[in-house]
Amino acid sequence: MYDDNNVFAKILRGEIPCKKVFEDTHILAFDDINPQAPVHTLVIPKGKYVSMKDFAEKASDAEIAALTRAVGKVAEIKGLNESGYRILANAGVDAHQEVPHLHIHIFGGRALGPMLVRK
Ligand code: AMP
Repeated sequence: MYDDNNVFAKILRGEIPCKKVFEDTHILAFDDINPQAPVHTLVIPKGKYVSMKDFAEKASDAEIAALTRAVGKVAEIKGLNESGYRILANAGVDAHQEVPHLHIHIFGGRALGPMLVRK
């Protein structure tokens, strides 16, 4: 069930500002408010999708293509293609998803270390 009051829904409605990086018909990309790396940008579909499962099942082919292309565009806009970057999407409790609107994190601008914290 999609929560219309989540923070990214508010950004999409223009109720909360964001530092926009890229936008097209289906996608908005903006800088994370609490960056974990010198570059930390979020890429979100404009449609109401909670998670990748939701998106994969319900989004149109055009939306799915747009999300993939937008990730590539943002990496280019942020100048990450030479140095490299990491993309990540949290889903659900184990991944500690905080905002229940699908978002792809793009991290870069420094050596990012191993993929997961080892316990
Ligand atoms: P996740 O844990 O994958 O759900 O990540 C949610 C991300 O959204 C976190 O990295 C937050 O810093 C970020 N965030 C929360 N509120 C805002 C906001 N108003 N503008 C930009 N990023 C936000």
